[in-house]
Amino acid sequence: MKKRLILASALASVTLWASAAQAQEQVINLYSARHYSSDEALYNDFTKATGIKINRVDSDDAGIIARMKAEGSASPADVILLVDAARLWRGEQDNLFLPIKSATLEAAIPANLRATPAANGGIPWFGLSTRARLIVYDKVKVKRENVDSYEKLADPVNKGKLCIRSGSHPYNLSLFGAVLEHLGPEKTENWLKGMVANMARSPKGGDTDQIKGVASGECGVAVTNSYYLARLMRSNSPEDRAITERVGVVFPNQSTWGTHVNVAGGAVARHSKNVAGATKFLEYLASASAQNHFANGNNEWPVSVGVTFDNSALKAMTAGKPFKSETIPISAVGANQVKVQQMLDRVGFK
Ligand code: FE
Repeated sequence: MKKRLILASALASVTLWASAAQAQEQVINLYSARHYSSDEALYNDFTKATGIKINRVDSDDAGIIARMKAEGSASPADVILLVDAARLWRGEQDNLFLPIKSATLEAAIPANLRATPAANGGIPWFGLSTRARLIVYDKVKVKRENVDSYEKLADPVNKGKLCIRSGSHPYNLSLFGAVLEHLGPEKTENWLKGMVANMARSPKGGDTDQIKGVASGECGVAVTNSYYLARLMRSNSPEDRAITERVGVVFPNQSTWGTHVNVAGGAVARHSKNVAGATKFLEYLASASAQNHFANGNNEWPVSVGVTFDNSALKAMTAGKPFKSETIPISAVGANQVKVQQMLDRVGFK
């Protein structure tokens, strides 16, 4: 009798342990640098579809990388979302990601928009949406043909006209890293020097501030990520929409190597205790419905092959036609950022 009791209680504790493990499997810890309120619905849909709950920690890219380094192998993170190729590359170099093998992700996401495979064949991170780095200009004072490529931002014809956020911001480090890939070191450093000579003001503010600078007449030409412009175009505020009516939009380098495209992307955390759940989440983000969410919620382009989307601002920006984007591997862009930062220091690009 006593024996049977012991056995029964042992069985009960095994069952308890098993259900605790199961319950643990139904949660993933997400460290996210996506600063877009529209993503909330996306996470709720994932939980509804899979039963896996998401514990979210919000920070910026640098904050997430610093936190994961500090936490080391004790990190509770399962999945990471960052919003720039240079940062994704940084996280990979710092060994924060677990390369994964997923036939779903590999079929959905083009090879140039994900990391180079690791030694074991797994992929350290995946681009999940794209954003173009655009040129906007004053339609009255500036001729479009003088600003239709990144190279022309450094042309003396644009002296005193250029507004751009800090050169060291990841969005610019990635653009400059791409230009380095296309033009080589000598031309790239001269180009950066030429941009410094053309500045209307010392770099300050975010991308939206540069668009506003063009609308107010302070800047003749500026650089911005596409979704900031699309956000103003789709804004409920008439003032925001009026801003976009005053600026011309260029997808640079259509006649040469194409417009620089950056990614927001995701990775499984190196020390995840729920690799299956984390992988499932990334696969979900590559699905047609999640990809549509990126397009409609934050005005980004889907990356997954064959996904169609409907976004009035993105369509208006490109006149309904596809634009030519660069085809260099996005992983090379991140790898160039150290060289680019040294150039910025040499030419005095703040
Ligand atoms: Fe942003």
